[in-house]
Amino acid sequence: MSTENLNPFEIVQQQICTAGQCLALDPAIEEILKEPKRVLMVTFSVKMDDGTAKVFKGIRSQHNDAIGPCKGGVRFHPDVTLDEVKALSMWMTFKCGVVGLPYGGGKGGVICNPKELSQGELERISRAYIEAIASIIGPDKDIPAPDVYTNSQIMAWMMDTFSRLKGSNQFGVVTGKPIIVGGSLGRNEATAQGCVFVITKAAEKLGLPLEGATVAIQGYGNAGSVAAVLLNKMGCNVVAVSDSCGAIYNPAGIELEVLYQHKRDSGSCINLPGCERISNEELLELPVDILVPAALENQITAKNAEQIKAKIVAEAANGPTTPEADRILFAKGITVIPDILANAGGVTVSYFEWVQNLMNYYWSEQEVNDKLQTIMYNAFDNVYAASQQHQVDLRTAAFIVSINRVAEAIKVRGHV
Ligand code: GLU
Repeated sequence: MSTENLNPFEIVQQQICTAGQCLALDPAIEEILKEPKRVLMVTFSVKMDDGTAKVFKGIRSQHNDAIGPCKGGVRFHPDVTLDEVKALSMWMTFKCGVVGLPYGGGKGGVICNPKELSQGELERISRAYIEAIASIIGPDKDIPAPDVYTNSQIMAWMMDTFSRLKGSNQFGVVTGKPIIVGGSLGRNEATAQGCVFVITKAAEKLGLPLEGATVAIQGYGNAGSVAAVLLNKMGCNVVAVSDSCGAIYNPAGIELEVLYQHKRDSGSCINLPGCERISNEELLELPVDILVPAALENQITAKNAEQIKAKIVAEAANGPTTPEADRILFAKGITVIPDILANAGGVTVSYFEWVQNLMNYYWSEQEVNDKLQTIMYNAFDNVYAASQQHQVDLRTAAFIVSINRVAEAIKVRGHV
């Protein structure tokens, strides 16, 4: 039986250690990076539709702000834990570092099950959470955004609550907002778009033509559903997708427009006519060219890594692969584009949104996408070069690139 450690906080600490060894990193800097700078845990009560009050727990973790304000999403999920949110805030620091944004990492979570909440209840939870953490967030302190089971409507409520508290519009406090209240064109698609940009680069390096390449996507949410469409536009054939109810597979390719309507009408991907029903685990092991884990942490582990057949694993999710699985995939010659690079498109366009809010001048979608492409291509090239230089996998290389930036800021500010 495997005794693999699946605690995301300990996993990210291990990832820091591995990169730190390659860099001969100052132990004091390593110690700073291994813990969040500040964690706030809050409890708040919300009136439910049936008139009762329910108590919820929320967390905001701020890992590091040496390069700029903390930045990162808020997750609404029943399984949110303190260690998970801490880890996610740390991955945000390194994600912003890989793409060179003037941000550090933050992350938030509320323990709740959005599938069982009405719109009214969701709104009251979103507002109460922001009120509870208002003292530590702000456009120049820490800027939340969407993550698992949160969306632009929730961001609008959060921005509105913070603005009311301050007595004036504070569009820059949150990103991923609806366009009409300071959102950026292209933000909805950004995580998937960034992921497709780096998949294109990796496929080029491998000599894998995207035309006709088969794709399996685990998670049909904010990132996965858009990645399916964008990869399809690039000529790829999406043969499998999944959500929390299960997975579907059609070796001939899934009709994405039909899938979109089916998910909208039935609430799930499963039971799409013409597709075979498989499990989420089976989806990961399909004989495809490109696998996109776009759901939650710890999906590819020591248990199933040996069975992964994809040539490219592009991590649209945060933390889907464990360190043991990383070693197995590397030995098998599978290219893993790590989360902190593969899904950095989301926070990159969040950065564009924040910049547009601060200057009150808004860009076209073309401008946003062109800027995103430049950043993602450069980031891929830098990470690839570091992997060649240090003879390591792309994850360790991404950490190396990023830690170098954060360490320089920590040093020059005189914190060590
Ligand atoms: N939640 C997304 C992530 O994990 C986006 C964060 C942001 O835009 O700040 O990268």
